Amino acid sequence: MTESRDMSPEYDVVVIGAGVAGLTAARELVAAGHTVTVLEARDRVGGRLHNGILPDGAPIELGGQWVGPGQTHVLSLISELGLSLFPTYDSGRHVVELDGKRVTYSGRIPRASPVLLADLAYGLWQLDHGGQPLPAPGIPLSAKAAELDRQTFAEWIGKHMRTERGRRYMRYITGAIFAAEPEELSALWVSAFLAANGGTDKLISTKGGAQQDRIVGGSQQIALKLAERLGDRVRLSSPVSGIDWDERGVRVELADASTVTARRAIVAIPPVLCGRLRYTPDLPGDRVRLTEQMPMGRVIKINVVYGEPFWRTTGLSGQANSTTRAVGTVFDNTPPGSELGVLLGFIDGRHADQVARLSTRERYRQNVDDLVAYFGPAAGDPIDYIETDWAAEQYTGGCFGAFTGPSTLTRFGTALRTPVGPLHWAGAETSRTSVGYMDGAIESGQRAAREVSELLARIPVGTNDGAA
Ligand SMILES: Cc1cc2nc3c(=O)[nH]c(=O)nc-3n(C[C@H](O)[C@H](O)[C@H](O)COP(=O)(O)OP(=O)(O)OC[C@H]3O[C@@H](n4cnc5c(N)ncnc54)[C@H](O)[C@@H]3O)c2cc1C
Repeated sequence: MTESRDMSPEYDVVVIGAGVAGLTAARELVAAGHTVTVLEARDRVGGRLHNGILPDGAPIELGGQWVGPGQTHVLSLISELGLSLFPTYDSGRHVVELDGKRVTYSGRIPRASPVLLADLAYGLWQLDHGGQPLPAPGIPLSAKAAELDRQTFAEWIGKHMRTERGRRYMRYITGAIFAAEPEELSALWVSAFLAANGGTDKLISTKGGAQQDRIVGGSQQIALKLAERLGDRVRLSSPVSGIDWDERGVRVELADASTVTARRAIVAIPPVLCGRLRYTPDLPGDRVRLTEQMPMGRVIKINVVYGEPFWRTTGLSGQANSTTRAVGTVFDNTPPGSELGVLLGFIDGRHADQVARLSTRERYRQNVDDLVAYFGPAAGDPIDYIETDWAAEQYTGGCFGAFTGPSTLTRFGTALRTPVGPLHWAGAETSRTSVGYMDGAIESGQRAAREVSELLARIPVGTNDGAA
């Protein structure tokens, strides 16, 4: 801070961002006896978790929604908060459209040529068995990791997949997981992300995988319940524009020019948005470069509502995917107890870029036509259509999460969660496990709270001795 301050900081900790990461961090700090305030830019909590409303009044998730086995942080928080789960609808035959040819299948393996299936199985095996950790301070990058970080994932696909159709399907999987194109992604980011999430099979599966369950009342309930317990410590409509920091702590400036002072800050917003804040003094070069080179994926999520889940009556599960269509992944998203039928569609990566350029009317027609191609004419006449373009959200910047291109992790990756003076970093992208998911966001909030709590216990007010 440039000017002298003669009063004590107002709070032990200021948390920036009331997504699940920031709210979890605040909860842990309050439990440890610290004074905390949470500054949230939007007029709601939850960030990438947001409930919309269906015509019958039932909540429907516009952002993140699924949890699965092994995601221990989110599962135990759900249970602590008194929330419950229900299984994703997964009965009946799924639709797959490979290079324009539509087939239906049941079980886990699509009906496709044995050559394609063998190519895919071997490609996914290679990915999952070479899994690399994300760079961490003090741990040198392995030669294998450095080699992966020199290539785009498109180059990796070119080298490791044997057939053109296999390559196209791998492109589809890339979009479905990363919401970005293989040319944009570092092969190391892909490898580390998959390793931190238990492998590709887990990420693309429903039963036994990351899409297995949903939260009754919608996933935003997690954030709403956390915020309820934090009470007026959470300040909505309080966008942060800059942070002055020094050995005594932080002075956070809001867009309305008001300020908040604290001994420590936890910045729980996506890396690209961290990079848009003004810091005085400037952050170290590695941290600046990292946030400049960690863009977000692009997803438009649609919830298309029908009078009933008509696909179920013809034995279809409502799940569909395609290597060519813009609406590349579809699920039955009907909430429990609703008589309506809801199809969720994801438009990701280059398709999201293209669809975002269309008028509202053109987008509606193109997206609904894709559903007709999967499920027949009954899909052509929905009673409601709810669309969220996450890349257009000022306080998210894209989704599902951030990624890096080649050479970024090698050069600047250790800056991802290394504190800078009194500044600590949280958010789904900074997690060691379940990177990019709710589970990872919660883990990151707990880790950042531990970091801060340990330091606050050691250092007297007014100094920053022992700071990382
Ligand atoms: C369409 C979609 C589908 C997804 N599907 C799943 C899924 O099925 N399962 C799963 O586990 N995950 C899923 N995810 C990812 C998951 O939602 C995120 O990983 C998680 O919610 C991130 O939480 P976070 O707290 O790290 O960040 P965020 O939720 O992004 O929270 C950051 C908060 O900071 C606020 N903020 C930003 N800038 C400022 C500022 N300058 N000042 C103050 N506040 C600011 C934001 O408004 C936001 O509230 C999905 C995400 C999307 C968008």
